[in-house]
Order: sequence, then structure tokens, then C-alpha cells
Amino acid sequence: TAVGVLKEHAPGERRVALVPGDVAALARTGFAVCVEHGAGDRAWFTDQDYRDAGAVVEEAAAIRRDCAILLCVDPPIVESPLSPHAGQVLIGMLQPLHQPHRVRAWARQGITTVSLDMLPRTLSRAQAMDALTSQTHLAGYRAVFVAAAAYRGFMPMLTTATGTVRPASVLVLGCGVAGLSAVGAARRAGAVVTAYDVRPEAAAAARSLGAAVLDLAVDAAGEGGYARALTETETRAQQETLAAVIGRFDIVIATAQVPGGEPPLLVTETAIDRLRPGAVLVDLAAGALGGNIAGSVPDATVEPARGVTLIGAPNLASDMAPAASAAYSRNVCALLKHLAPAGALRIDPDDEIQAAVLITHGGAIVHRTLARLAA
Ligand code: NAD
Repeated sequence: TAVGVLKEHAPGERRVALVPGDVAALARTGFAVCVEHGAGDRAWFTDQDYRDAGAVVEEAAAIRRDCAILLCVDPPIVESPLSPHAGQVLIGMLQPLHQPHRVRAWARQGITTVSLDMLPRTLSRAQAMDALTSQTHLAGYRAVFVAAAAYRGFMPMLTTATGTVRPASVLVLGCGVAGLSAVGAARRAGAVVTAYDVRPEAAAAARSLGAAVLDLAVDAAGEGGYARALTETETRAQQETLAAVIGRFDIVIATAQVPGGEPPLLVTETAIDRLRPGAVLVDLAAGALGGNIAGSVPDATVEPARGVTLIGAPNLASDMAPAASAAYSRNVCALLKHLAPAGALRIDPDDEIQAAVLITHGGAIVHRTLARLAA
């Protein structure tokens, strides 16, 4: 079976779905690997690196024509001459919950779509395929250094001949994979770290990593280890309590998400006004659906109050494209091995993993939740 690696087209996307180091393993499983010309460029993998690893490098049109399976990171543009065609299998982080129009188009076009971001997180045999975890782990880590670079003070406490410098005070909002990774990185950088999550389990995990835990008196553990959306009253209470304490922090890293919904607004304009000049905010949830911090703009830095820096950073994994691509590539290979153990795809909707990741197949939306949403 021929597997094609697509060049990414989303603005700011530097990652690639398969790295040269994983070509040989796919070949051993029975796949022939074709890579779109320039696909790895922005992660510093050259066409020659892929050829040396045993892949064939082709132009976009040839990949679309010849490959049964296409690998990507972000969903490719629908309705373009370069979109996949009937019978092809597209594997990537396709964000189907946020893109119902794309899901309908894929079904209509007869494309089989497999979305890595729909993988059940708690299934231990799916851990090697968990791309959301591998990518958000990188993003949380990176957020600390993006914040540190914009912050005009030291992260650790320093004792020098001229006196003692106090460490930076970092607040991490949302302690899922990204938040816990940020807690760990900020602690290692020497900052004093406080964390907050609506799930007591997540707050406990942050505490075990050495963070102090903020109690905003809201418990919102939802299904499957995720948070539920808050009621209006809970949201207001959370925002007000946070606004009352936020002034003591130098850096705020916000990572809160609710599956399939809008990210909760945690830091309001009132809260931002209480920050000291020099404070730095990084919003990993910034995007088309809003963000955790009022006024955050995806992929932009703004100054919402005097001396306050607000960085909208929805795709920090892409900032670490070589490492992020290597991790994603491992996830994709693990999934491919599961879907096609002998190099040929075996669609089996009764399989727990396939039932979760298979979105469209045979001209229909086969994913249970999405079929309901599309109906
Ligand atoms: P996520 O990206 O959906 O959300 C990030 C965090 O934001 C979550 O901890 C959530 O509780 C929190 N949050 C949501 N609304 C909030 C609000 N209003 N205020 C404050 N915090 C809020 O989460 P995730 O990182 O994808 O993790 C989801 C779950 O999956 C977790 O339970 C995690 O432990 C689990 N997980 C398990 C495995 C595994 O077992 N292999 C791997 C990865 C993740």
C-alpha cells in the first residue's frame, strides 16, 4: 500500500506528519512511503533526508493520484484540486467536532477519514497513538519559555552580591496535559508555581508536581476525565475570584479546554486591569472560538493594559516543529500499525479504537457522535 505524506497548508504550521526516521519502520510493515516535495522543509527535514530513508519524493498531484493513504497534521483544504478523492484514506488531527461542514464534505466525497484527535485518552493500548497528548505536552513546555522570553525579570530566585532577586510567580490555569507540562517546566526554571483546575484530580496532579493550588470553589469534573462546561453562575464566580487574586502573579499560562466546546473565559478585562505592568499572559486556548483570556488574538502579541503582554499561542507545538513532528510521526505509525497490521487497511468499526477515530467511510459519517451532530 502506498502512503503519502502531505505538505501542510495551515498558516503557521511547520510540522510534518511523518519524519524520515520512521520511513523504514513503515516500509517493514509493508507500506511504500511517498512524500510530497518540500513536506518536511519547515521542520528541517529535506527531500533528500526522506530519499535517504527509502521514501520516494513526488509532486502534490502525483501523491493525491497514487497513494491509498494520506497522512497530514491539520485537516487539508476541502474542495481544492489537491483534496483527497473517493476511496482514499486521510489520517490526521482532523478536528471533526469543530468542523462539521468538512465532515459532511468528506462523507459526500467518499473519503475515509481517521482523526487522531478523537482517540480515547484513557485506553492504555492507545497511548502510543495519542497525538493530542504528545503535542499538548510540547506546547505546555514551550509556553513557559515563550512567557519567560517576554518577561523582563528572572524566573528563579537569585542571591547575588547586590542582593536577592525574588523568583517569578507563575499561575497555570487548566492542569490537563499542557498545564501539567507547564507546571513542570516552570518549576524546573525556578519559578514559584500556582495551578488551578476545575477537576480536583487535575489540581491534585499539579500539587504533586510541586505547585500550590488555587481554590476557586468550582468542581466541574465531567465525563472521561474531561471537564464539563460551567454554568453562567459558576463562570461568573470563577472569573470574580480569579480577578481578586491575579494581581500577585507575574506570568499566567492558560490551557483550559472543554471537549468540543468553546474554551472557558477565565481571565476577564477586569482581571487584566489588576495585573502589574510587566506581567505576561500566554493563552494556549486562543483561537476562532475565543480563548481563556479576554482579548487574546491567535498567533499575535497584544498589550491589553499598560505594560501587560498577552500572547495568543494556539499552536506552540509547531514552534518546536522537529520535536513535535517526531512525536506525531510515532503516533501516526502506531495507529497505522493498528489499522493495517500487514500493510493493508482493515476497517473494523467494532474495534474500540477504530470506533473512536473513524469519522467517515463508504460515503457516510460512521462516527456515532458525529453522525448524530450532522443529522
Ligand atoms: P483538555 O485539553 O480538555 O483541558 C485542559 C484542562 O482544562 C483540563 O484539565 C480541564 O479540566 C481544564 N478546564 C476546563 N475548564 C476549566 C475551567 N473552567 N477552569 C479551569 N480549568 C478548566 O484536557 P487534556 O489535557 O486533554 O486532558 C483531558 C483528560 O485526559 C485528563 O483527565 C487527562 O488526565 C486525561 N489523559 C489521560 C491520558 C492517559 O491516561 N494516557 C493521556 C492524556 C490525557
